[in-house]
Amino acid sequence: MELRFLGCGDAFGSGGRFNTCFLVRAARASFLIDCGASSMIAMRKFEIDPNEIDCVLLSHLHGDHFGGLPFFLLDAQLASRRSKPLVIAGPPTTERRLLDTMECLFPRSSKIDWRFDLRIVEMAAGTSWHDGPVSVTPYLVRHQCGAPPFALRIACDGKTIAYSGDTEWTDSLIDAARDADLFICEAYFHDKKVKFHLDLETVLEHLDEIRPKRLVLTHLSPDMLGRADVGANVGVDVGADVDWTVAEDGMVLTV
Ligand SMILES: [Zn+2]
Repeated sequence: MELRFLGCGDAFGSGGRFNTCFLVRAARASFLIDCGASSMIAMRKFEIDPNEIDCVLLSHLHGDHFGGLPFFLLDAQLASRRSKPLVIAGPPTTERRLLDTMECLFPRSSKIDWRFDLRIVEMAAGTSWHDGPVSVTPYLVRHQCGAPPFALRIACDGKTIAYSGDTEWTDSLIDAARDADLFICEAYFHDKKVKFHLDLETVLEHLDEIRPKRLVLTHLSPDMLGRADVGANVGVDVGADVDWTVAEDGMVLTV
């Protein structure tokens, strides 16, 4: 299974990075983890055909994590002329929030008679959901976005990818990411504690409880991007046998 970071930035374009969007290519499915506002631009830049994507999994309903969907859907209808089904799975209220956003950005677009089968699924925290070979378990985290925010534990091709979403520390991250083959975790700050976001110091403090096989940091603030010790995209030994890396847009990992 291959994971490609199409966007690993924060909401504000820090470091010139695109909003959150990770593409996973598995044996029998391609799916996105989040689809932030800039995701269509990122897909064009990295020459990804949007029609290859079977499913979009959403961690939470902030614009830098789901705001690319109106553009994705309009492209599918008008430009890419999609014919295969698309599933969008997110937290409760995803359908209403998505249609409201579409109507605001492109009036009447929420009423389109889609040329492909579009299914919007609202997942419940703690309840696993399957789409073909992809199994997702959402865990409730702490972030303010008008709907329950999730960390996602995704199983496919016998491997596990966990994604923290945006959150301050909560023990549910341990359940979401325990022993994962890959844990993509927000590290917005280095050591500064703020509500609703994570810092690297806190993540490392809990790493022995999570013990992912590989940790990749995402959603970095200008403060984090400016630090020489995390700016270089190199593995660092943190004493827990964990391969520790900073995400870059365009980076490809084999899981
Ligand atoms: Zn957020």
